[in-house]
Amino acid sequence: MTDRSTELIQKSAESALSAEEATALMGAQGPAMLDLLRAACVLRDEAKGNRVTYSRKVFIPLTTLCRDDCGYCTFKRDPGQPGAKTLSPEEVLEIARRGKARGCKEALFSLGDKPELRFPEAAAELARFGYKTTTDYLVAMCRLVLEETGLLPHPNPGTLGRHDLARLREVSPSMGVMLENVSPRMRQPGMAHEHAPDKVPGARVAMVRMAGELRIPFTTGLLIGIGETLRERVDTLLVIKRLQEAHGHIQEVIVQNFRAKPAIPMADWPDATLMELLRTIAVARLLLGGEMNIQAPPNLSPEVYPLLLLAGINDWGGVSPVTPDHINPEAPWPEIQRLAQFSADAGYALRERLCVYPEYIDRKPGFLSDGLRDAVLRQADGEGYALAEEKYA
Ligand code: SF4
Repeated sequence: MTDRSTELIQKSAESALSAEEATALMGAQGPAMLDLLRAACVLRDEAKGNRVTYSRKVFIPLTTLCRDDCGYCTFKRDPGQPGAKTLSPEEVLEIARRGKARGCKEALFSLGDKPELRFPEAAAELARFGYKTTTDYLVAMCRLVLEETGLLPHPNPGTLGRHDLARLREVSPSMGVMLENVSPRMRQPGMAHEHAPDKVPGARVAMVRMAGELRIPFTTGLLIGIGETLRERVDTLLVIKRLQEAHGHIQEVIVQNFRAKPAIPMADWPDATLMELLRTIAVARLLLGGEMNIQAPPNLSPEVYPLLLLAGINDWGGVSPVTPDHINPEAPWPEIQRLAQFSADAGYALRERLCVYPEYIDRKPGFLSDGLRDAVLRQADGEGYALAEEKYA
């Protein structure tokens, strides 16, 4: 350990790292960057030991229709475009059952935001299934999957208000929304969220706060490389930190790197570099502390992803042996055994968790609705992790 690493750990423990210092660390290079990574790694190890987790999931793309147009999105489609699709209840169940057969325990619902407000075709499709809004349909499909398969729903429902969050809480033990970045600049002309009315930072922050008031174990995070400054990254982490201090419900923070893809408005933007990703993870660890669960998706950093462990993550997120990553279809998930091997090579033991993190099952009371408690406990071991690793092909 260098003196500088020790100093950073100390400052982190005392919540004494200023926004200016954190911003400077976001640009650290050479030996200063090594000090940063070392401090983040030690902080994680002291709190989490040598355990790194993942969730075995199926990915259910409930609808690819969306009223927003984010500059980096490959998921959404407008009505009539190839791939425009709202899954029927039968299709939802078919995917969930395939996941169940392969040992999955999480049903990750991803969907566009309120397409019925922009496209009459979306409203008509929902009406055909017997629902008025996408959120009505999402709540019903979470319940269906839970009751028919026992898989635990984790929806990424877009920007919602209190009433809808409360409804979803009854059918999903955890949920999430990425803050991505809290800077209002992202909505200016030419920026990633110019045409995304649901990406108003204040509304997203308010949603995460409401989730805390409703005691919902919540996943959020940053998307880096979409035109934000280093200070704006830090500001986003500090907002997350304050929300966590107020409500204690942030179960996980994702640090996701932008990757350019053909046919998106930001196709010509440079990818966020590996060094940027590592520095952001490490600064997130220092600002949010050793106990926070920090994740980076392994499929977005192929071959180098063990380095993410050295920067301070303790979770690989959802990995599916069944379905592709519909958000990043060009980036296959690693096989789980390969993930375990890479983790072991870096000195870490892979452990399966549920969509809701162990600390929210027992140690933090009031975070599971009564109706979900049995469904969660049936699949959890004494420590709150997923019951016995099962050996599926
Ligand atoms: S809100 Fe989500 S689905 Fe819609 S365009 Fe943005 S990233 Fe894509």
